[in-house]
Amino acid sequence: MPIEKTPEENAILFVWFNHYAGVLIKTPSKTLIIDPVDIRARSFPDADAVLITHEHYDHLDPRLIAEIQKATKCVIIADPASTQRLKHAIPTEKLQQIRPGEEIKVGEVSVKAEKCNHPAAEPVTYIITSEDGVKIFHTADSLPYPELAEIGEKEKFDVVFCTVGIAPGTSPDTGFEIARLTKPQVAVPYHTNSTDYQQQFAQIIKQELPRTACLIPELNKIYQVTKRK
Ligand SMILES: [Zn+2]
Repeated sequence: MPIEKTPEENAILFVWFNHYAGVLIKTPSKTLIIDPVDIRARSFPDADAVLITHEHYDHLDPRLIAEIQKATKCVIIADPASTQRLKHAIPTEKLQQIRPGEEIKVGEVSVKAEKCNHPAAEPVTYIITSEDGVKIFHTADSLPYPELAEIGEKEKFDVVFCTVGIAPGTSPDTGFEIARLTKPQVAVPYHTNSTDYQQQFAQIIKQELPRTACLIPELNKIYQVTKRK
């Protein structure tokens, strides 16, 4: 699955690669992998960073991460509970803990952690800003929470990933609520194995949020998103 092509200027490429929050993001200079599980390490030969949102099995696979890290020498950025679980598998200088409100640079790409409303130890969501200012919000499998409105207002997201299933309490409606609060240019329904749920999400977006486009991703397909004008 390595993406051969490079995104155009002011754009990013992304791939959704499992039924959870597994997303690869490629900016013009960096490749970031978020929450890799259910996939082979050799799918990511050019990873610059792996980002982990929380310690649940559908987001954290320490053996796989160690394998990716060993092959690519990439940096691992993780919430505190996952950092603990990774400590013995990853060289200290390559493992960076992150908490809501903190930012870590991967070259010129910014990775900022925000709060995540999900029953895990200290889960995070990630705001990723590419070197040319494309804004991506990876919300892990968070439920909506009020501060999302303020975050959306401030960041003006190009893409927001919205959980529509599997995690406790989540549904097409809670996924929509994340989109409604953050108002992205493009909303992507994920964390589900139901295309029905994704379609329901798309339907609500169309009715309630006409200025947001819904992109229903297929697994392992490459999509490009360009920065809003
Ligand atoms: Zn999950």
